[in-house]
Amino acid sequence: MTSQRELTRPIAARAMRVPGTSRPREEILKEVAEYNAGFEGPFKLLLGHDPNKLYLWRIQLDCGCVEECLTYGEPPTERATRDFLNGGLIQAGQRLCSSTHGAPPCYSTIETWDDRREETFPPDPIEPKYDMSHEEWQLFRKDHEYSFAFWTVTLTCRHQTEICTDLGWRPEDKLRRLSPDRLRKMRDGFESYWESEPTEDVAEQAHREHRRRMLNDGWPRPEPEQECSTCRRVRWIVGYQAIGWLVPRPKPPKPKPSKRVQLTRKLAKLEAEVAQLRRELDTLE
Ligand SMILES: [Zn+2]
Ligand SMILES: [Zn+2]
Repeated sequence: MTSQRELTRPIAARAMRVPGTSRPREEILKEVAEYNAGFEGPFKLLLGHDPNKLYLWRIQLDCGCVEECLTYGEPPTERATRDFLNGGLIQAGQRLCSSTHGAPPCYSTIETWDDRREETFPPDPIEPKYDMSHEEWQLFRKDHEYSFAFWTVTLTCRHQTEICTDLGWRPEDKLRRLSPDRLRKMRDGFESYWESEPTEDVAEQAHREHRRRMLNDGWPRPEPEQECSTCRRVRWIVGYQAIGWLVPRPKPPKPKPSKRVQLTRKLAKLEAEVAQLRRELDTLE
């Protein structure tokens, strides 16, 4: 599965007058400083931004929304940018909109398993979490320290996400699937719930469709299909307006006119004076 928006042919973006006006530069400079403060030592150099090198643009997206963006001088459609939602990259010519505009959740298939990290959690508290009853919580609760592996995966839509697996699982392993008996019970459970709770909600419908596909596939674990929150917000840039360097450059001094230009001007001035004197003299005669 690949998001429809991702497959859409790129709309050629053009330089244009983007509606509205940009925020005061001081406000944006403050945000850049706050972003840079999040890094220390060599990371500051690597991931931080030198405000003196940043160029401010206003862009219009294909959803109609207007956003501001900063580049290192190049037009905002030229380079892939960092996906601040899920890591990875947003392809050149696209940006994330701050709204989903009510788009339903998108699911994409895992294409590659990239990075792996492990995380250890303390024992769960005795008091139930996640609105569970005491009985339900007892089934889920772990009374000892436990660890999971977290994988960064790239999806067929080219975005990334992170998913959790058991420590021992490796991409070359087979996906675990339910036995036919357990699968039938699970399908019956879902079907009777969905029948009793019909929904018009597009998000819920998308989640149900995803579960249906997983049931048809034997309920594989880890799930080969993941929700991509980036697909829901990614948009094509349709137009951009150059605002200027974030830290305005001092105006270059006007070049001095050449000696020839200086002399020509001086001569013209003197000739005008001579002509004036001649006219005055003529009136006397
Ligand atoms: Zn938008
Ligand atoms: Zn995606």
